[in-house]
Amino acid sequence: MANEYLTLERLNIHQVTLMQCDFRESIECLARHGVAGTTLWLDKLDETNLDDAVSIVNDNGVRVDALCPGGLLTATKPAAFTAAIDLNRKRLDQAAALGARSLVIITGGLSDGDKDIQTARVRALTGMRQLVGYARNVNVKLALEPLHPMVCGFRSVISTITDAVEFLEELDAGDITGLAIDSYALWWEPRLHEQLLKVAPRVLHFHASDWLRETEDLRLDRGMPGDGIIDNRRIREHMEQGGFTGPVEVEIFSRKDWWRRPCDEVVQTIVERMEVYL
Ligand code: ZN
Repeated sequence: MANEYLTLERLNIHQVTLMQCDFRESIECLARHGVAGTTLWLDKLDETNLDDAVSIVNDNGVRVDALCPGGLLTATKPAAFTAAIDLNRKRLDQAAALGARSLVIITGGLSDGDKDIQTARVRALTGMRQLVGYARNVNVKLALEPLHPMVCGFRSVISTITDAVEFLEELDAGDITGLAIDSYALWWEPRLHEQLLKVAPRVLHFHASDWLRETEDLRLDRGMPGDGIIDNRRIREHMEQGGFTGPVEVEIFSRKDWWRRPCDEVVQTIVERMEVYL
């Protein structure tokens, strides 16, 4: 598998990459360019009703690999925590209806006033435990995505591959859980390639974009593969050497650049670059 060129069949472009489009426009754009897969962005899914969403993806023949982002399980107030669990159950139902393999889980960061990251991690683990049975029932995997430590405060208290693996081991539900590896979140990790080789069999999703050397926004200034300092191709090859066979998913948050361009130009650029950079 390693060293093979990426094909349109294996390419996934996250719906959030086409933030400038509504739900239908984004799916139609992907279909127009022959892109086989997508990961739906939950804010966009909430803009349409579920039956319409199912029809739109089916009519356009676009495969839904996952829904993103689920989780956010670190609330300190019990009512907010319970609401998060309920919302994730709804997300799992939506994922099942759309034929998605996974719900991508980010743990959430620290609530307002909270200064105890260790206990926040415990709450996230408790939340995940409460979702495992439900996920099994609807046959949708929980794909834990560690995020870059600079967004630890408000997005994810799990930042490294080691932390993510330990978290999943604590959970002890390997049949229904796995990892989402995002190159933007993890490219800086020491011994990254060694680690990826090891965890590759647990990887369900590979999210790819580029880190612009002089980034202007830690979260919303992601670059197009090829424009920055991440070797996405090499990351993919290492995971494939370890047994990863899943989709390669381009996920670009780009408030000042790619979200302002016509969606056809964005998708065309990704397709042009995938043989070299993905
Ligand atoms: Zn991601």
